[in-house]
Amino acid sequence: MTDAEKIKMLEKITGKKPLHRPDGKETMQELHGVRSDKTCRECIHCKRLLYGRTIYKCDLWHVNHSQKTDIRVTGPACGKFKPHEIK
Ligand code: SF4
Repeated sequence: MTDAEKIKMLEKITGKKPLHRPDGKETMQELHGVRSDKTCRECIHCKRLLYGRTIYKCDLWHVNHSQKTDIRVTGPACGKFKPHEIK
């Protein structure tokens, strides 16, 4: 069973995303690998939130009020990168 499968199973059992990854990995890039040809800003999973200041979260990653769950939009994308659809 891969790390991603373990996390999905945990989410299914508890009904929520774990606050602490069972594998100790801290970023999506550590979990799913790096795509250096793309950035998180270009990904459909990158969500912009306004809380007095602009912050960005990944909707595939666990989200809470901690800055630890913020993502850097200029940073390299992860293996789960999905481009925005062009209409
Ligand atoms: S590239 Fe990966 S970490 Fe970045 S927003 Fe997309 S899914 Fe999330």
